[in-house]
Amino acid sequence: MSKKLQEIPINVINVKADGEIEETLLYSAHKKIYPRWVTGFWNNWRIFFVFATQLFFYGVPWLQIHERQALLFDLVHRKFYVFGLVFLPQDFIYLTALLLLSAFGLFAWTTIGGRLWCGYACPQTVYTEIFLWIEKWVEGDRAARIKLDNAPLSAKKLRLKTTKHTLWIVFALWTGFTFVGYFTPIRELWSNLLVLALSGYEVFWILFYGFATYGNAGWMREQVCKYMCPYARFQSAMFDADTLIISYDSERGENRGSRKKGADYKAEGLGDCIDCTMCVQVCPVGIDIREGLQYECIGCAACIDACDEIMDKMNYPRGLVRYTTENALEHKYPERDILKKIKRPRVLMYAVVISITLAATIASLMLRQPVKVNIERDRVALVREADNGWLENSYRLIIQNASEQPHIYLIRATGLPGMKLIGDDSIELAPTDINDVSVRIQVAPEHAKAGSHAITFIVTAKDDPEQTVIEKATFIGK
Ligand code: SF4
Ligand code: SF4
Repeated sequence: MSKKLQEIPINVINVKADGEIEETLLYSAHKKIYPRWVTGFWNNWRIFFVFATQLFFYGVPWLQIHERQALLFDLVHRKFYVFGLVFLPQDFIYLTALLLLSAFGLFAWTTIGGRLWCGYACPQTVYTEIFLWIEKWVEGDRAARIKLDNAPLSAKKLRLKTTKHTLWIVFALWTGFTFVGYFTPIRELWSNLLVLALSGYEVFWILFYGFATYGNAGWMREQVCKYMCPYARFQSAMFDADTLIISYDSERGENRGSRKKGADYKAEGLGDCIDCTMCVQVCPVGIDIREGLQYECIGCAACIDACDEIMDKMNYPRGLVRYTTENALEHKYPERDILKKIKRPRVLMYAVVISITLAATIASLMLRQPVKVNIERDRVALVREADNGWLENSYRLIIQNASEQPHIYLIRATGLPGMKLIGDDSIELAPTDINDVSVRIQVAPEHAKAGSHAITFIVTAKDDPEQTVIEKATFIGK
């Protein structure tokens, strides 16, 4: 008789030295999680972060600066507009700096705050939260959803499921549309969408990102964090005993067990945990925090809100499940002292790297000239004699206006006595435009003996002399 894959246990049997048999399950069938709705202090923070991050994500592409999209990564024209600054492929160093800052920022943040990023701001968490809101709004809370899923197909079930998935898909496609709007002007994209004139690439990426959102937030949910997210896997390397974690205070909670409200439970040998399982029911990854710190925990604090509500009802102090650290639990110091432990070598090292990178990036951005110049020598004829008997070298100056305003650029050359620049000594460029100018440099033979001589090209914006680029070149004499 054939069996489904999830019915076949795939285990590793390990026989220990003392003869004890240890069995490790390598594959366990996925069980759908139905997180219960929770309210409370930390839930309010989660709602705040959902709105803050989504306001940014959906709103920013519509902002305009200098009549251009404020944040646009124009891959086709290889120009990146970032709130009034224009970056070109030559500015790759800033991307490196951004990646460095993001990486070390995340390392530092993880060492201090544990999985705060996962619990509040990670797109996977945020979209799962939004999809859960839609699900709850359409199908009801945990018990109603379980009942609906277990019920046979009916007109009501079909209606509710169709409504939920339609709302999910519309939301996901809007997310896909916005994502593409960071790479192609979103206002044009919208106009083209209205007249169904999107390009094939645009349609592909809207659908791709849209269905990734739908699949990850609607179907995969906690499995993305558990099995796919690399950050979840390597962050334990950044944890130490002073890292913020969410923990169940087992010393206070055990022995767990039900009791009547107001009963002298301590006399019965019970702790503060009434074993209501609310902390488990609200958990979006389906774990029991009372079993200790687990890698699946995304630090969302839903279990804290759920348990605090129970503690309030029982008239017990809050904080049976709380934000704390291993050291605070072990050495029993109050949670307010956790901040004092922030100054530790690992955190200071991250802070130094971040500060240096940030300072260097800001300084470089402030000194950055919004005009780029590249010089290419004519390599066919290194030097030739002009009609007037002077020696002549030819160059091509590729000039790019990396600003949002049009400019006329003046071109000069210095370095050898009496040298003359023949050809165009100025060029007009529209915002972000690039063009090249061919020029010749003539030098009297007595000032350019055989060999190469250092010369300098100076390119200056006529209306803003501060925009000046000095580029070195060589003049070949004979
Ligand atoms: S154990 Fe608590 S903090 Fe961790 S994921 Fe579950 S509900 Fe969130
Ligand atoms: S919510 Fe609190 S009281 Fe209820 S089971 Fe969890 S830890 Fe115990």
